[in-house]
Amino acid sequence: TYVIAEPCVDVLDRTCIEECPVDCIYEGGRMLYIHPDECVDCGACEPVCPVEAIYYDEDVPDEWVSYTKANADFVEQA
Ligand code: SF4
Repeated sequence: TYVIAEPCVDVLDRTCIEECPVDCIYEGGRMLYIHPDECVDCGACEPVCPVEAIYYDEDVPDEWVSYTKANADFVEQA
């Protein structure tokens, strides 16, 4: 799955939402989140993010690995 990390906080550009073919990117408070079970790993969202907040889960930088769980937790409680 793809993951949205810290650069999205307080930015919420939302271009990724328009690109996602399965509408699995959700807005929550200060950032956007990707539903890990709905994401089809197409990669369309990653290059359009103006702040490079989106990563394939295995490529999330070390300082932001907690965001992988944050994305999953958000959609679970939503
Ligand atoms: Fe949506 Fe594709 Fe990005 Fe997954 S990788 S969130 S399916 S645009």
